[in-house]
Amino acid sequence: MTATITLTTLTDWLELFQQQVTEQQAYLTELDSAIGDADHGINMARGMTAVTEKIGAEPTGTADEMLKKVGMTLVTSVGGASGPLYGTFFLRMSTNVGPVTELDAASLGAALRAGLDGLVQRGRPELGDKTMYDALAPALDAYDTAVGDGKSIQVATADAATAAAVGRDGAKELVARKGRASYLGERSAGHLDPGSVSATMLMETLSKAVGAP
Ligand code: ADP
Ligand code: MG
Repeated sequence: MTATITLTTLTDWLELFQQQVTEQQAYLTELDSAIGDADHGINMARGMTAVTEKIGAEPTGTADEMLKKVGMTLVTSVGGASGPLYGTFFLRMSTNVGPVTELDAASLGAALRAGLDGLVQRGRPELGDKTMYDALAPALDAYDTAVGDGKSIQVATADAATAAAVGRDGAKELVARKGRASYLGERSAGHLDPGSVSATMLMETLSKAVGAP
């Protein structure tokens, strides 16, 4: 167990996320066909495949350079709302981390928080709007709580993944108030939000890349 993560961990995270959204592409698209326009799986698989091609298997440079490439690639290669939202998340992480090659629990937490703040500025989601924010906001709160309690980066990311899943499931019965699903009104209730499902995968793959607590 280590107190810091390196560019290799960040690369592993992005590769695991790419694999996950590619394997689950049909599922994500099925969720989006119920309350959206049936493209979330395609969007995420295309975007993350472009990302892994762009950054390559061997990490070079600094964390901010790498995260900037991730964000720019998502913004430019994904047509749906999720591209600019996830893209902004990674771009803001990039600006926050600066030219480093290692992150500790606090600096990873600050970067994730900056990413989420950027996503909020972009999409204006609020808690309970039934979006990816309903998974990400409780995830980062759980992360901060764990770090505040002196827990390791491994425990903090595992707690974040668990909280994301709880947030995702909690939003299932809600009526969507943002994005395409909001056009359905009451009919959006009873369906998982596709973005909250992919956002939970983002947190789960981060935890996996960081390693078991
Ligand atoms: P699109 O809605 O353009 O087809 P996607 O299907 O790829 O894009 O992504 C849909 C997901 O994006 C939703 O499930 C939701 O989680 C998220 N989303 C949409 N609008 C917003 C918003 N304003 N704020 C936060 N998340 C949003
Ligand atoms: Mg869609």
